Order: sequence, then structure tokens, then C-alpha cells
Amino acid sequence: MNHDKLIKLASHLAEPFCITKGEKFSLKDWDPTDTTGVKSKQHAQKILEARDGVLNHLQKKLYAQDRWAVLIILQAMDAAGKDGVIKHVMSGVNPQGCDVHSFKSPSNEELDHDFLWRTNRCLPSRGKIGIFNRSYYEEVLVVRVHPTLLRAEKLPDVLTTKHIWTERYEDINAFEEYLTHNGIVIRKFFLHVSKEEQKKRFLERLEDPKKNWKFSMADVNERGFWKDYQEAYEEMIQNTAAKHAPWYVVPADNKWFTRLIVASAIIQTLDELRLSFPDVDKAKKKELAAVRDSLLSQKD
Ligand code: ATP
Ligand code: MG
Repeated sequence: MNHDKLIKLASHLAEPFCITKGEKFSLKDWDPTDTTGVKSKQHAQKILEARDGVLNHLQKKLYAQDRWAVLIILQAMDAAGKDGVIKHVMSGVNPQGCDVHSFKSPSNEELDHDFLWRTNRCLPSRGKIGIFNRSYYEEVLVVRVHPTLLRAEKLPDVLTTKHIWTERYEDINAFEEYLTHNGIVIRKFFLHVSKEEQKKRFLERLEDPKKNWKFSMADVNERGFWKDYQEAYEEMIQNTAAKHAPWYVVPADNKWFTRLIVASAIIQTLDELRLSFPDVDKAKKKELAAVRDSLLSQKD
């Protein structure tokens, strides 16, 4: 499959899952088992194999041009496949041009700062792709589902009002607009797994000794708050989807499909930047030619 054909196909695959306007978004309209656009797993495999070359080529240009940065945000319930997606995307790119940051429960030092502080320090520099495994969006997800976490953030009481979530959406939107104005392109992915599929994956972790290490009691506890999380995700997307920073709601019950859609969306994003290798001016070309001649004339 040639590059142009694959890029076209990637856009076609990713488009249906992209949300740029959230007002009418309702999670119940989105099916975690959906595999729209792909005939079979084999078909997906073929596309994924071709994808590596394209992604690598686009990333090389991003790096060489050194103007844009790309920020990829991954959010999901446990066992939705974030790790697999990251491994997969990383396998297609040069590790020098791609950083991954995971955000877990905040440390004491992090709790002593505003909520964007820790992520702000990990933003990708120009020419790079940054992947956030969880992000500042946890501040309107887990923190919303468990209000005790908000108390641990030590905000002054007068600022902890019922408006806090709306204020956080506003702050996140303003922050993402600011990043966009600075050449950091944001793409956000919610890996949408069903409750049944999560149960299946947890059971696999319990039953397969090679997967035991992945099992965490905390994950099962969070499962008890499933409905609250779904509501928090829905409201987050309603309030923070934007043309410049869209949410992709990626069906996550089939891992191969999840990877395909995320990879496709990244290819489409890079392609839309119309990247090119930096131009070499006349003087520089002359200099390169002279060095080449000199090297060729050397005996050893
Ligand atoms: P994995 O389980 O695959 O290693 P993970 O991202 O689930 O990856 P864990 O260490 O299991 O990592 O969980 C991290 C936990 O930290 C999650 O439960 C998440 O909700 C929580 N967390 C992340 N950011 C915040 C935050 N700002 N405030 C409170 N909790 C947070
Ligand atoms: Mg976990």
C-alpha cells in the first residue's frame, strides 16, 4: 500500500470517532465493540503493517522541521489498553523524537502546586511527539468521582465551590488554546471499553500467571464507581472537545481496532500539518557541495 493511499485510508478510519464539538455528546451513542471501516482483523493487520513506514516518515519531517510539537493524551478506565496503544505507537516512531509520561496519584510536591503544574513540565518540545498516559484530565475524572482527593489538593476553602468543575473545564480549554497558539497540536483519546470486557480482562490477569503482575486491587475498587466515571467522561468530552483539540472516542473492546484508530488519527494529524524537510539555501548547498568534493578527493 503506498503512502498516499494509506494516509487517505487513515483519515477515513479515524474521522468517525473524532469529536470537535461536545454539546450534544452522549456516551450511550458510542459502541465499545464498533469496528467501522475495517473488513476483518487481517485487513486491519495489513493496514497496521503499512503504517510504520508512513508514521516514521512523517515523524522524521516533524523532527527535522522543528516547528510543531504533537501532544497525544490517553485517558481510559483500567484495562482499556493504554499500555498496548503506547507500545504500538512507539514501535512505529524513532524513540529520540517521542517521549512518554505517565501521571499517577500526585506526590506531596505536586499537591503543593496548581493542577496543571506537573503536566506543564512534561510538554513536548518542538519537533517531538509527547504521549501523556493519563493527564490533567484526571482532575475532572478521578478527583471528581472521589471528592476526598480534592481536599488533599489543599485549595483555599473559598475557592472550593460547586463551580469548581466548570472552572476546571474553562482552565483546561484556555490552556489547550494557549498551547495551540504556540504550535503544540493536541489530540485526545478516550479508549472506550465496556464493563463486560473490563471484567474479562481482569479475570485474565487473575487467571494467567504471566498477567498476574498487572492485577491491582485498586482497579477492581474503581470498577465499583463505573457509572460515576462514565458520567464524568461524558461531561468532560461535552465541555472540552474543540476543533483544535478534539476528543477521539475509540472503541476499546477489540485491541487491534483501538490501535488502528489511534495510529490512524496520529497519521492524519501529522499529514494535515503539511510537514516538509527544511529548505537548504543556496549558500549552504554550495558549502555542502564543496565538502563533498573535498571528501571525494581524499585518498583514505
Ligand atoms: P497501569 O495500571 O497500566 O500501570 P495506570 O495509569 O492505571 O497504569 P496506576 O498506577 O495503576 O497506573 O494508577 C494510577 C492512578 O493514579 C489512577 O487510579 C489514576 O486515577 C490516579 N491519578 C492520576 N492522576 C491523578 C490525580 N491528578 N489525582 C488523583 N489521582 C490521580
Ligand atoms: Mg492501573
